[in-house]
Amino acid sequence: MTHKDKPNTPSQKPNGGQQPTPKGGGGGAQKPKGTSSQPPAQKSGGQRPKGNGGGSPRAKGGGGGGQDNKQPKLRIIPLGGLGEIGKNMTVFEWGNDAVIVDTGLMFPANDMLGVDYIIPDFSYLVHRVKERRDLKLHAILYTHGHEDHTGGVNHVIDAFHGTPIYATPLTAGLLENKLRESRLSQHTQMNVFNAGDQLKVGPFVIDTFHVNHSIPQCVGFGFHTPWGIVVHTGDYKFDHTPVDGQPADYARLAGFQQEGVLMLMADSTNADRPGWTPSEAVIDGAFDQVFREAEGRIIVATFASLISRVQQVANAAMRYGRKIAVAGHSMINNTRIARNLGILKAPDSLFVDVARVHLLPDKEVVIMATGAQGEPSAVLARIANGNHRQLEVEDGDTIVLSSHPIPGNEEMVYRTINQLIRRGANVIYDPILPVHVSGHGSQEEMRLMLNLVKPKYFMPVHGELRHLRAHAKLAIDAGVPEQNILIGDNGSVIEASASGVRITQEKVAGGYVYIDGSGLGDVNDGVIRDREQLSRDGFVVVVVTLDRNGGLRGDPQMVSRGFAYQPNNPDFARQVKGAIVDTLSNGRLNGRKTEILNEVLARLFFTETKRRPVVMTVVNEG
Ligand SMILES: [Zn+2]
Ligand SMILES: [Zn+2]
Repeated sequence: MTHKDKPNTPSQKPNGGQQPTPKGGGGGAQKPKGTSSQPPAQKSGGQRPKGNGGGSPRAKGGGGGGQDNKQPKLRIIPLGGLGEIGKNMTVFEWGNDAVIVDTGLMFPANDMLGVDYIIPDFSYLVHRVKERRDLKLHAILYTHGHEDHTGGVNHVIDAFHGTPIYATPLTAGLLENKLRESRLSQHTQMNVFNAGDQLKVGPFVIDTFHVNHSIPQCVGFGFHTPWGIVVHTGDYKFDHTPVDGQPADYARLAGFQQEGVLMLMADSTNADRPGWTPSEAVIDGAFDQVFREAEGRIIVATFASLISRVQQVANAAMRYGRKIAVAGHSMINNTRIARNLGILKAPDSLFVDVARVHLLPDKEVVIMATGAQGEPSAVLARIANGNHRQLEVEDGDTIVLSSHPIPGNEEMVYRTINQLIRRGANVIYDPILPVHVSGHGSQEEMRLMLNLVKPKYFMPVHGELRHLRAHAKLAIDAGVPEQNILIGDNGSVIEASASGVRITQEKVAGGYVYIDGSGLGDVNDGVIRDREQLSRDGFVVVVVTLDRNGGLRGDPQMVSRGFAYQPNNPDFARQVKGAIVDTLSNGRLNGRKTEILNEVLARLFFTETKRRPVVMTVVNEG
């Protein structure tokens, strides 16, 4: 098996090969390939080498200073993707050196009002890299181009200017597009690699391997350590007939087993689904039926990044003599990038501008659109609501929703479907025809992965707790000792050393950063709570004017919106006034008048109305 060294690997190797080196021989770890400059592995029974031998972390950059006397350890810190589906991000540290795998985003739950998206809290990294300066961030590595793995790139590059990115060509193209749109391209350097390449980044030696998913050019990573390889699968399934014709790299995975796998970190999204996830090829049959039977236009809605699906629609369009119009900013961009890279194979003549579809007979048109999750601002919902500038649903249209609702989106999706049906469309979605298959492996694929790499330790990732637990069970069934299963949390610190892998007591920030419109993470939990409260119970502004002695002058003025109780009710107004007078007569208000009045009034509103409006007291000092 040959592994090309990536041509544009950074050449900084000041100390001559201080990769995580095989030493101690614990657990029969094999010598990593491609690191022949390493000192030979100690074969003695001494499992815990003292001192810092050849494998000690290199102290680089400011602050780190001299040698670290502790024995080397690999630290793995998931900042997102554990206990949730989305915003995947993991830090790998070797001494004072670090790389990040993925920087994803997550779309907000219905109760997070006015939040556009959520990214992982990476303040831990900011602290270590920029404030304490005892950690050097060498690179961000990407597994694939989906938003839940790439969507936070702008924020991370903005925080760590100059950090290089490593990605496969399609992922790199999608990332470049994001960075260009936020004018950050000049703050990183894009290193493009192909699945199967070995990456050398700082002290890390990382094998890459191809996996199947629902976007081309997905990879997982194998981190070499002195105690075996740590395999991170990224999102994956095993598909023997994938759209891009490239099965997963079984040989490399089996090769890892030969070298010894210390730990497997694997995608758990479908851990509660028995059997195999069907091949993408299943969809071709369903699309064929749709295209054969449709009398009018066809509109296919899916995720903007589901490039494989666009290819399948293109193939069907060619077979049935239809032209494709792509609608939706992100899908237009992604399609262009994939076509320029030759990943999406379709002739130019197949495509037509969405503004011109009305010039073609209905039977010769297929429109690819965003919005299969019912997102209000995406094309499909706008069509359903009748407020899309260029497209309108007509009688006889066939609309295909080629995706499953993400948990939490069901209501929006079904509302959109009902609206489309009301407008006369024939709507096709998964239970009706298999027009979507998951990009994530089911239980049998998980078992196959476990058996291919035979890890000593197992850490389920990418999933809610129920998925992580279900995945852990599969691993135990596949022979991983129960005490070697690690179920972590965002912000957990996992440590691999000669004595094994464990979750430490240390915990770093692993929460949410809410991104609101163009702002950068300036929405905190308090703001979200206020918005929830505002939407439910409205607000009340109470204007209080004080006399010279700090007593109340006149009646307090109340203005409210969305607050169900009548603030003009004289009884209630009297109670409010009484509470204010009482509060002001209490001498210990120094400097906190407004806050204390807010608290007192909020309590009063609640006891009187059983509602919790947001209370804002304005105090005019006389
Ligand atoms: Zn994905
Ligand atoms: Zn994912």
